[in-house]
Amino acid sequence: MIRLYLKPNRERPVRNGHPWIFSGAVESVEGDPEAVGVADVFDHKKTWIARGLYNPKSQIRVRLLTWHEETIDRDFFARRIAQALALRQDFLSTKTNAYRLINGEGDFLPGLIVDRYADFLVCQFFIAGLELFKDDIVAALSALESVHGIFEKSEGRVRDEEGLGYFVGVVSGAEPPDTISIEENGFKFLVDVRCGQKTGFFLDQRDNRAFLSTVARGRTVLDCFSYSGAFSLYALGGGAKEVISLDSSRPALELAEKNLALNGFPDGGELLKGDAFAYLKECDRTFDAIVLDPPSLAPKRSDVTAATGGYKFLNLHALKHLNPGGYLLTFSCSQHLSTDLFQKVVFGAAVDAGRKVSIVKRLGQPVDHPVSLHHPEGEYLKGLVLRVLD
Ligand code: SAH
Repeated sequence: MIRLYLKPNRERPVRNGHPWIFSGAVESVEGDPEAVGVADVFDHKKTWIARGLYNPKSQIRVRLLTWHEETIDRDFFARRIAQALALRQDFLSTKTNAYRLINGEGDFLPGLIVDRYADFLVCQFFIAGLELFKDDIVAALSALESVHGIFEKSEGRVRDEEGLGYFVGVVSGAEPPDTISIEENGFKFLVDVRCGQKTGFFLDQRDNRAFLSTVARGRTVLDCFSYSGAFSLYALGGGAKEVISLDSSRPALELAEKNLALNGFPDGGELLKGDAFAYLKECDRTFDAIVLDPPSLAPKRSDVTAATGGYKFLNLHALKHLNPGGYLLTFSCSQHLSTDLFQKVVFGAAVDAGRKVSIVKRLGQPVDHPVSLHHPEGEYLKGLVLRVLD
């Protein structure tokens, strides 16, 4: 076991439950400082504080798992998974069989994402220390009720920063079909876990889609960054008069077409392949509601300034294309862009668009994407429902 000692005055956030220890807070390391593994963390007076996973290659040297002296083993992960499952069972509708089962730090399992799509789980291991416990975690997950197979999709920037390669494939049980059929609030969707984006579906927007369906009746709706058509489908389900789904990805739109047909909307409006920035600028018509759900424009902290330009552009042109009394559901999923800054950017867009706008509702992450109170960085998704006056 590694023993890691903090510099003087660096223990407070650790004691208060923040799960990350950056390299700059570390005074010294005992044990093999080059090896990934479980580490005990002490303050500079050598008092034990917490236990976590150590990676000498990562700027985040330790991700904390527990503030009790408990063994990190299969049982530990099974207990955390059971806690996470209980939260979902408390809140999720019986008409929903797709949800995030483990949301990393928000479920006190840093670096681990597990999404359930009906009888299949898709997991992402983002940090090196978790690799040591992959068999234990997979065993604990396979023991859950009605899990036919577990697919791993561990790739992306965080793994690069951790010095890890990628792994994509089945890790337990059955191979998932090309598309898994799921149900969300009674709507049916096909999810392509292999070729789809992220783990295959954007579960974090479930409640926000439901909100759209409550204001869709009789309205014309433009769903920008539609992916597999989820907002569009909720709009149609809510009685929208006309829906346009716009995305730059052809496979996403092909899936959207299937999803709309599957739910009884074979002519579910127009599916447009294109760049949302260009479309919004050049479009020569107006809508009663627009959804703006772009991918993160600031994946890194250093991208924030450039990203604010992108968000402003999108919101400005969307606001210009709304009919009086129309709604804009605008989102940012950039962790590094704060709620305050996002609102300021949207305000700037409204001023430049020459529209008077009210905030009708603030939107965020659903119950299956909990945020640790000790790790506010986990609150990445922010949304505003705006109404233009005239
Ligand atoms: N609203 C979707 C999720 C959107 S994810 C849902 O609820 O499921 C972001 C989407 O933006 C992806 O489908 C991606 O293909 C698309 N995208 C990325 N850049 C784009 C661009 N410049 N114009 C249009 N779509 C874009």
